[in-house]
Amino acid sequence: MVVQKFGGSSVEDAAKMREVARIALAHRREGKIAVVLSAMRGCTDLLLIAAKDAEAGNSAYRQALDVFDRRHLEAAQALTEGSVRDALIEQLKSVLSDLRDILHGVELVKECSKRTLDLVAGFGERLSCLLMTGHLRSLGFEAEYIDASKGFICTNDDHGNALVDFEVTYRQVSERLEALSGIAVITGFIASTPQGRPTTLGRNGSDFTASLVGAAIRAEAVEIWKDVDGVLTADPRFVKDVEVLEEISMEEAMELSYFGAKVIHPSTMVPLLERGIPLRIKNTLRPEVPGTLITQSPKPHNKPITGIASISDVALINIEGSGMIGIPGFASRVFLALSRVKVNVIMISQASSEHSICIVTRKSEAREALKALREELKFEQESRQIKDCELIQDLEIIAVIGENMRGRPGITGKLFNALGEENINVLAIAQGSSERNISFVIESKDRERALNTVHRAFLG
Ligand code: ADP
Ligand code: ASP
Ligand code: MG
Repeated sequence: MVVQKFGGSSVEDAAKMREVARIALAHRREGKIAVVLSAMRGCTDLLLIAAKDAEAGNSAYRQALDVFDRRHLEAAQALTEGSVRDALIEQLKSVLSDLRDILHGVELVKECSKRTLDLVAGFGERLSCLLMTGHLRSLGFEAEYIDASKGFICTNDDHGNALVDFEVTYRQVSERLEALSGIAVITGFIASTPQGRPTTLGRNGSDFTASLVGAAIRAEAVEIWKDVDGVLTADPRFVKDVEVLEEISMEEAMELSYFGAKVIHPSTMVPLLERGIPLRIKNTLRPEVPGTLITQSPKPHNKPITGIASISDVALINIEGSGMIGIPGFASRVFLALSRVKVNVIMISQASSEHSICIVTRKSEAREALKALREELKFEQESRQIKDCELIQDLEIIAVIGENMRGRPGITGKLFNALGEENINVLAIAQGSSERNISFVIESKDRERALNTVHRAFLG
């Protein structure tokens, strides 16, 4: 069996949904297929804004819901017929009315907890999957709607970005899908705690749902269908002349997505790597294009690097002073202080002189991080062993990724030469010992210039 996931742009309207059904049906093995869907394009954003508006007492959320209702009901009209249509419309109306009630509740209590937000955020997936199930039934196929927040994907209660319990998830998913004879239409993005409270896997989490389902049933392959021809050498919104990557390794895909390539959710590769299942990225608009194959042993290529990605809106904190030289446990204090305030460190760099450590975090978390570090290092700063921590905002991390960089001298030289020639200032550099990734920090204003310069130097 192949698990196929279709993103928001692939299911944005009735016409696109019809195309998705065609692609999915072409993959039928003994009548069984598993399809994972995102919400129709823009729906998750709309729901999150509506929840915030309702909480603030702004009645604009009601108009937003009117548009939301209409969009789904119109799609139902276009995708189904007869008694299937009647049943579907009744079901959609009931779900839409639940959503309205929940948001009205939020408006009344003037409070939307992270838990409630997770419940609301998942309605887009519930509706798109109900639509697809109805459409497949209308075409005469046996199809079953699976709400992944009902004892299917199991997570902890970290609402907004919950952590998956792999063992329970694999058991629940395989039991449920084994018992099924027709087409499973599964909601991406949403999950639930062992107590049955709805959670979400983080934005763009439907990719991860698909890989969890694929791993659970030991699928032959997982396919993720998007609006691009595959994984590209860089983000097409910023770089000209990008190319489709034919084959890349799981590790390269992880590095690219972790370092900002929005094309795949970063956790997607984890279950697949563990179970040796290949992943293919395909284009719904051009199904004939082979796409990108992501495997454990991709066909080698001879470019020095594979791709480039970037993370925007980051900040750098520099900790400097003689007080950390040769002191065991200094770095651990720094990271403990940050973990206590739940700040995620994206990149670190420490020179071997041990005279300074620099930490890169999201811009939104930087103030909190700075405060925590100042508290932790108060004594050292008062006794002048450590200088006051320096915070630099409005930065960007660029990551150059590729298996071919391993053991190949000269890449770093060429990289920083190219940036130097373009007068791009580099504030910090990190390279892991895997040698698969070189990351560096620049000012946000230099983003496009830096991405294009590096792309030209290595992939042009
Ligand atoms: P979906 O919601 O359909 O799953 P997304 O919009 O989340 O799809 O992701 C696809 C988009 O990711 C593309 O349209 C493209 O603009 C962007 N993108 C960023 N970096 C890359 C990359 N390296 N390769 C391909 N697409 C990328
Ligand atoms: N609908 C969710 C989002 O917009 C999940 C997804 O599309 O993968 O983030
Ligand atoms: Mg997406």
